Amino acid sequence: MMTKGNLLYEGKAKKIFLTEKDDEVIQYFKDDATAFNAQKRGTILEKGVVNNKISSTLFPYLAEAGIPSHFIQQLNDREMLTRRVKIIPVEVVVRNRATGSIVKRLGLEEGLIIDPPLIEFFYKDDSLGDPLITEDHIRLLKLATPSQLEELRRQALKINEVLQPFFQKRGMMLVDFKLEFGLWNGQIILADEISPDTCRFWDIQTGERMDKDRFRKDLGRIEETYQEVLKRVCG
Ligand code: UDP
Repeated sequence: MMTKGNLLYEGKAKKIFLTEKDDEVIQYFKDDATAFNAQKRGTILEKGVVNNKISSTLFPYLAEAGIPSHFIQQLNDREMLTRRVKIIPVEVVVRNRATGSIVKRLGLEEGLIIDPPLIEFFYKDDSLGDPLITEDHIRLLKLATPSQLEELRRQALKINEVLQPFFQKRGMMLVDFKLEFGLWNGQIILADEISPDTCRFWDIQTGERMDKDRFRKDLGRIEETYQEVLKRVCG
């Protein structure tokens, strides 16, 4: 039995609780949804359950492929036991197709194939609106050392190599996704979550959006779509 201790941190979509072990925490997945730097807020019913289950499937799958993560075990519908890491405040985005912010920023054609995949770094800072940053900015802000940055890049590309075929078999194109990493025993390990909140999926047959873009852009059938992703990944 893992007893839940005090709340350590509350974010937009998750809460982190202490446990009796110093080096383990519980990630609780909420139904709260935000977009556009939390200017848009809402609830996606059962999202927490879906994202917990999907992440609890993907982390062990990645571990088998040699990608270590903070995941220890799924505890229940909304909770996951994880290693306590120090989150590196850099969001690592991997893009296989152009959509979202890169289309606005660079004027690329929506859906343009990006091959080889593109890596972008964003500074995880809500008050600044998570700005895009370069490797030199990361060095300036001392967010990561050059060798840690190389490791982030390497792991992100490897995760893409593993997840692309995983989703393709399930009729989903992995368009782009955001990763967060943490330091644990001096090692960089994957952390946070991998879910329709943090990835973009397009249905291979219909092109339908199967991710948080349904919430961001009011496309409707949000809950149904999250359930469909769950079914394809875990069903
Ligand atoms: N993303 C995320 N959290 C963020 C910003 C982006 O999980 O705070 C994910 C998003 O779901 C997408 C990818 O990162 O899969 C790239 O997002 P983009 O930079 O296009 O930003 P957006 O269009 O969401 O502003």
